[in-house]
Amino acid sequence: MQTLITDRAIRERSHELAMQIGHDYEARPLTIIGVLTGSLVFLADLTRQLAIPHRIGVLQASSYRGATTEPGLLRINLELVPDLQGRHVLLLDDILDTGQTLSALVEQVKQLGPLSVRTVVLLRKLGRQLVALEPDYCGFEIPDVFVVGYGLDYNDEFRHLPFLAGLDPEDIALGCERR
Ligand code: 5GP
Ligand code: MG
Repeated sequence: MQTLITDRAIRERSHELAMQIGHDYEARPLTIIGVLTGSLVFLADLTRQLAIPHRIGVLQASSYRGATTEPGLLRINLELVPDLQGRHVLLLDDILDTGQTLSALVEQVKQLGPLSVRTVVLLRKLGRQLVALEPDYCGFEIPDVFVVGYGLDYNDEFRHLPFLAGLDPEDIALGCERR
């Protein structure tokens, strides 16, 4: 496992994003919706650095199993989303890979009738995108490696790491043998 982005770098960048978002949404009713489970840590950090009043909520989306980078069947659960009438929504996810998850979520959340829907991602993997979607805010662009930590998992492990790390293909193979 190799450190890709340190906790200090994440803290500095999320502060910059919070300043930018605070400026853009000043005096507008904002609801940030985090995509469970990977975005929890990013959501918790960003919301506390955002100086304007806002609401937070979550929804559930899952498509990946283990370390496979092939998108699986996307399952979306909107039951936890709060009322969005009269609200501007910022959908927050951990990582934009093919873009399929976030673009499907944008469409689903629009159906709930908010004033607007925009997106923020902590990470964007370069050279992987299949769906045309420009995130409105992006923390870091990263190469095509499988990352864990800061909320992101491999088989539900490593979410607690305060930094972002790239998982070697060998580590992944070893993990599969152990199961
Ligand atoms: P997309 O639909 O953009 O291909 O996939 C986005 C989702 O796949 C993310 O929300 C995340 O859950 C998962 N994902 C994509 N790449 C990685 C990665 O490198 N590490 C981890 N832990 N999850 C990833
Ligand atoms: Mg996810």
